[in-house]
Amino acid sequence: MNEALAARLESVRHGIAEAARAAGRGADELTLIVVTKFHPASLVRDLAELGVRDVGENRHQEAQGKAAELAGLDLRWHFIGQLQTKKARQAAQYAHAIHSIDRERLVDALATAEVPQPIEAFVQVNLTDDPGRGGAAPGEIERIAERILETPTLHLCGLMAVAPLPEEEEAASAFARLHGYADRLRAVAPQATGISAGMTHDYVEAIAAGATHLRIGSAITGNRPTAG
Ligand SMILES: *Cc1c(COP(=O)(O)O)cnc(C)c1O
Repeated sequence: MNEALAARLESVRHGIAEAARAAGRGADELTLIVVTKFHPASLVRDLAELGVRDVGENRHQEAQGKAAELAGLDLRWHFIGQLQTKKARQAAQYAHAIHSIDRERLVDALATAEVPQPIEAFVQVNLTDDPGRGGAAPGEIERIAERILETPTLHLCGLMAVAPLPEEEEAASAFARLHGYADRLRAVAPQATGISAGMTHDYVEAIAAGATHLRIGSAITGNRPTAG
């Protein structure tokens, strides 16, 4: 039993419940995804023993290896990193959700995947002016969403974003913009009510702004081992 891990998980769960209460929201509206990137499969196993079911990874090869190693556990793998088009079909083999869909070509690649059930799909929107950060420009949201709606291997769940750096914009105002984009998405796809936002340093602001899927890593796992 990994007691330090258990204590950090408990503390984040408590923080989420507090933030939800402060925002007048029910904790049952929120899905906690524990981001396990760079950590070994053994840590994911420890998390599963502590009742975690949703885990997030941002690199395809690493995610593929861990998902294979832990295939016997009841885990849901969320892919949250930039995904190369040529790796899309492989990622579809283990990913229950892909949060980083930011272009139509990626949707087209996922359309050809063989999946037992549709993958939960989030359109990633870039909240900065830097295209290198990943995510679609806000003006592309509807077009990508419509393409996902035409794709039987995908189930459109909502939007995903990473907050800008603190010196660029306050997380609260960036998440307020994201909320506005989510309203636009629901005009095209009323069932796509998900908002994947909120990490270790900004999950309280994200919950206040309506996030439904929190992607929290280091507050729970501890510092990431330095890896390439
Ligand atoms: C690493 C990562 C997270 C988690 O970050 P922490 O600051 O460790 O909570 C969330 N989302 C994405 C896209 C990430 O790459």
